[in-house]
Amino acid sequence: MKPETVIGLEIHARLRTRTKMFCACPNAAGGEPNSRICPVCLGLPGSLPTVNRRAVELGARIALALGARVAPESRFDRKSYFYPDLPRNYQITQFAEPLAVGGGLDVPGAGSARLIRIHLEEDAGRLVHRPGETLVDLNRAGAPLAEIVTRPDLRTGDEAARWLAELRLLLIHLDACDGEMAAGSLRCDANISVRPRGSDELGAAVELKNLNSISGLRRALEFEAARQAEILRSGGAVERETRGWDPDRGRTYPMRGKETAPDYRYFPEPDLPPLAVDPADLDAWRAGLPEPPAARRGRYVSEMGIAAEQAAVLVETPAEAEYFERTAAAFGDPREAARWICGELRRIRRAAGAAAEDPPVAPERLAALLAMLRDRRISSAAAKIVLERMADTGEDPGAIVRREGLSLSADPRSVEAAAAAIAAENPDQAEAWAAGKTGLLEWFVGRLMARTGGRADPVAAREVMLRELKSRK
Ligand code: ZN
Ligand code: MN
Repeated sequence: MKPETVIGLEIHARLRTRTKMFCACPNAAGGEPNSRICPVCLGLPGSLPTVNRRAVELGARIALALGARVAPESRFDRKSYFYPDLPRNYQITQFAEPLAVGGGLDVPGAGSARLIRIHLEEDAGRLVHRPGETLVDLNRAGAPLAEIVTRPDLRTGDEAARWLAELRLLLIHLDACDGEMAAGSLRCDANISVRPRGSDELGAAVELKNLNSISGLRRALEFEAARQAEILRSGGAVERETRGWDPDRGRTYPMRGKETAPDYRYFPEPDLPPLAVDPADLDAWRAGLPEPPAARRGRYVSEMGIAAEQAAVLVETPAEAEYFERTAAAFGDPREAARWICGELRRIRRAAGAAAEDPPVAPERLAALLAMLRDRRISSAAAKIVLERMADTGEDPGAIVRREGLSLSADPRSVEAAAAAIAAENPDQAEAWAAGKTGLLEWFVGRLMARTGGRADPVAAREVMLRELKSRK
């Protein structure tokens, strides 16, 4: 019988709050080790946690965007374990009564997964391993996390990877998490088991840890699905265990078996009251949800005629999507705007090392440039030059075109003279064209555009060159 792979994901998203989950220490990556700590996040005796309301709001916004039901009242618990990056010896999390349950995310063309739950918790610190020693940095300890747990609805590594990519995009658009997987702001564990196709039972699940990229998730799951299928094929039984992913060797490896599975001894956190969410707040958060990225992409394709690949690029960040919409509104032709934003503008921005939040040119200025191009006041070659200048100087496109003399030549006679000169200088090519190598016309037009410094109207230049060549036949 053919095997079927069953995959569920557990995602930890660091919430974009100013301060940590239960104290006023800054919630920011990096910094001098152990500089962003206080008695609360260190768990010193006598210190008391207080809940960060902004973290609750962001967690609830994630839940609402995923169609989950936010509990009017949830609770915090202590999850006990010993590890040097956890000074309290327990993590404050939500176990029995999470912030939200249910919901799901359907990714068109990829997978769909329902959610079991979304809960709030605090992050642990970080161990820094060096030759001969291990150091503890607790700056991250107490950072706010939302943990999102799916049902085992996904079937392949590729499906899971595409699902996670869409969830990541949604979190970024909600401004709830920066989505930086390499920096640990978004982390994913996966439960994977293989069973005979058609069976409803779940096989012994292997938990995969440390999947810190989308491609890592895909590869680890593909490796693990093949490994487990092979064990079943040869009559063996897959062991319930936790495995790590080694991206360099491209394989999973055992971390701990079920005998050493920890017993967390959850119990209610006595220092925190139940977490109540005001229904009026919930309504306001729901009303303030942004358009989901998938809907935005769909709208760009169906209402604006943008190619699907370009729509995906434009929706990579809310900043770029906003930029595109403002440019398209000011200019009136969304397809041409998308083409320039995904092409030249992106190239210039990336060369300058700037983020999408920091565009090199204001959208209204780009729209003005595109209007000059549409009205054939400049050539497209000149438009590229002007855009570069605009990015450098912040000037208006009209001012640059005037100063640098980049407007299309109003003098058709100089274009004609240039065409005649080029034909005269290249008699062999002119003869070959006359003999039937019609493709040579483009070569001549290219020379003519270069000779006129890009100021000739390309359509007119083509006509002039053709007339010139014909007159020589
Ligand atoms: Zn603190
Ligand atoms: Mn967790």
